[in-house]
Amino acid sequence: MFDLIVRGGTLPDGRVCDIGIQGDRIVAMDDLGAATAGRVVEAAGDLVSPPFVDPHFHMDATLSYGLPRINASGTLLEGIGLWGELKQVMTQDDVVARALQYCDWAASMGLLAIRSHVDTCDDRLLGVEALLDVRERVKHYIDLQLVAFPQDGFYRDPTARANTIRALDMGVDVVGGIPHFERTMADGAASVTELCEIAAERGLMVDMHCDETDDPMSRHIETLAYETRRLNLQGRVAGSHLTSMHSMDNYYVSKLLPLMVEAEINAIPNPLINIVLQGRHDSFPKRRGLTRVREMLAMGINVGWGQDCVLDPWYSLGTADMLDVAFMGLHVAQMTSPQDMRTCFDMVTVNNARTLGLADYGLHVGARASLVILDAGDPIEALRLRANRLCVIANGKVISETPRADATLNLPGRPDTVRRRHGAG
Ligand SMILES: [Zn+2]
Repeated sequence: MFDLIVRGGTLPDGRVCDIGIQGDRIVAMDDLGAATAGRVVEAAGDLVSPPFVDPHFHMDATLSYGLPRINASGTLLEGIGLWGELKQVMTQDDVVARALQYCDWAASMGLLAIRSHVDTCDDRLLGVEALLDVRERVKHYIDLQLVAFPQDGFYRDPTARANTIRALDMGVDVVGGIPHFERTMADGAASVTELCEIAAERGLMVDMHCDETDDPMSRHIETLAYETRRLNLQGRVAGSHLTSMHSMDNYYVSKLLPLMVEAEINAIPNPLINIVLQGRHDSFPKRRGLTRVREMLAMGINVGWGQDCVLDPWYSLGTADMLDVAFMGLHVAQMTSPQDMRTCFDMVTVNNARTLGLADYGLHVGARASLVILDAGDPIEALRLRANRLCVIANGKVISETPRADATLNLPGRPDTVRRRHGAG
């Protein structure tokens, strides 16, 4: 007798099996035959995946689109200016309400682990207070990891350094930074060094907005890899964006990537935002603005797609759907072979779980019983359809269900319904 059985689903690797759940753990993965359970969820023919993981988000800004105005130019810098205006007028209750609403969306999309940056350039640290509260409120269904993020520059903003340290004292999980936004390259490099030292002293992970620019001379990733190794932070450091790498000299990159491998840097490209914000100073040819994803993967670097923004000063769309993110990444990085498309699915599940250091993640006996059932037969079909999440289970509990969205056809001589699944109508 199990608490819950998910029967007959297809795992991302193609195996078909039943999943037996007791409490918040997966306790059996096999043909469970006539075994009984408090509840049985039928998944025959459907993909069963571990939950989606977003390694890069801004939950303090999400769902604020239009407040106090929209970003007219659509640029990164106007977005940062607009966020500065919004910070003056927002309240802690606003931030909590928007973040909780976003977490509802995430839960319904099977997005059950999110690393969110939280702006520490605010003497009140209102966003930090708000998201610490939200982290506690959603903990039974979403792993929310917070990054202390000095949006206006760790050194460039006069009180950012003190406030970032204060945010870490308050319980923010990860050390952030934005070296390319400091006043000089030297200040940027110094900020990487000091922030990595702070992380090493406190035993924390690091995740920097790093080289989010089209300037090929923005090379803070080199310093980040160097400091990671010097301070023995291997595997616990992430470089977010890394867009300047798209325009770096090939010879330089041939030296840089092995340094990243040595430091076990995790890379987080954010394709929706990168394709929208980068290349804004170009006429034609116009750069795509995405870092070297395939090249990093080929070197064995852990790379995962991040979402970054939903309905905020930088991005006017978004749905908490990591399949949207992977779909965009697949196109921009030209990852179109069957193997590459499967990798894109891994990049929003297992690769991102590794970046966040999630314990007990995955579909195996002993893992946490968190999973998603999709209206798709395999990971590639899930990407193609950005498939509905039929059922989302978090820590052994069904937290969201969506009915299949088959269309009814009224066409003489054609089937009555259509689902757009390959081989299934
Ligand atoms: Zn970001």
